[in-house]
Amino acid sequence: MNSHCNLDCPICFAGSGHHTQGFSLTLDQVEAGLDAFVRAEGQPEVVMLSGGEPTIHPLILEFIVMAKAKGIGMVTLNTNGIRLARDRRFGEELAELEPVIYLQFDGLEEQTHLRLRGRDLRAEKEAALQRCAELGLAVALVAAIERGVNDHEVGAIVRHAISQPAVRSVVFQPVTHAGRHLPFDPMQRLTNPDVITSIVEQLPDWFRPADFFPVPCCFPSCRSVTYVLAEGETVVPIPRLLALEDYLDYVTNRVLPDPSIRGALEKLWSASAVPGSTTVAGQLDCIACGLDSPNVLDQLADRTLMIVVQDFQDAYTLNVRQLMKCCVVEIVPDGRLIPFCAYNSVGYREQVWESLSGGHVPAMVPNATALQDLLQPTQFGFKTIGEPRREQRDATNIGQGL
Ligand code: SF4
Ligand code: SF4
Repeated sequence: MNSHCNLDCPICFAGSGHHTQGFSLTLDQVEAGLDAFVRAEGQPEVVMLSGGEPTIHPLILEFIVMAKAKGIGMVTLNTNGIRLARDRRFGEELAELEPVIYLQFDGLEEQTHLRLRGRDLRAEKEAALQRCAELGLAVALVAAIERGVNDHEVGAIVRHAISQPAVRSVVFQPVTHAGRHLPFDPMQRLTNPDVITSIVEQLPDWFRPADFFPVPCCFPSCRSVTYVLAEGETVVPIPRLLALEDYLDYVTNRVLPDPSIRGALEKLWSASAVPGSTTVAGQLDCIACGLDSPNVLDQLADRTLMIVVQDFQDAYTLNVRQLMKCCVVEIVPDGRLIPFCAYNSVGYREQVWESLSGGHVPAMVPNATALQDLLQPTQFGFKTIGEPRREQRDATNIGQGL
């Protein structure tokens, strides 16, 4: 929607912020992009409005109305939550349109906020969550996780999500090493299995590794998911009750628990369960697990939490075969649908940004520790490639007539 933001996060893979050379899409440009998406997909299930920070775009409410009018089933709004926390009227207008709020939420500790976002945003996050609960807006908490910064907080984030009435899902994303991000060693990158291991270690009474399933889009290393039923301190991973792998095709791109899972859970408690079927076996499991079954059934939507672990590719992990199966695309106003990981890693973002803003946007390169001598800062905070140091050039045979 825009390249501007009311934050300048040290880990912004989009390179967004308060810089002056930006763009804000017009109504016509957004319409052209949505039309291209509908042409390609037929009946798209979900679109995410993202930025920069989309809530500061003056036409954001019109964009949501337009996406819904084009028959897109679910509109999600990717936000840092600051405007939601501070602007009561905006929240009320948003609530009438019922987008799903995809809320940046990296942890509960001050240091996590300072290192990943450059500011302590804990009060804003709590205020945004409270507003969403009051307004009946469903929320997905989205945590960027970096090794040694906030990977010790994943259990606390799940606990917090369960305690929040508005929250329906938690999405953990290992930090994408594209655009702006902290210096990192590619050999020490955080992976989906690392995140799952941390969840299990930090919440051993609730989870084991087998509760998480890789989703078949686009690759097993891309996305894993689990669902839980939660009632107070009693938390039961749904894969222990249902054969979740039977539903994975439906949960591929979801940011909220899938209705088919709800249907299967209702069957689990239903008197019509066929003797000997997995539903009856599941029913027994569930009685044993201590959930108050009729009560859970009444409030199934409120008690089901989806946990997603999503690793986006960067320049070090980019795999063309994965891109060919990509199910998360960036919609460009000129009608192109570009796989998200390619958009961030091989120059598309800079190309589109340049064409929409009219000014030069340098190539973003990874801020890897081994490359530090070759990197130069840009006005956008991300790094670009500089001239190699003279002694490095002299150390080669090139041009020396040998
Ligand atoms: S990560 Fe999100 S909130 Fe932070 S600067 Fe980028 S767009 Fe803004
Ligand atoms: S965005 Fe696309 S290419 Fe990237 S990990 Fe997800 S599905 Fe794969």
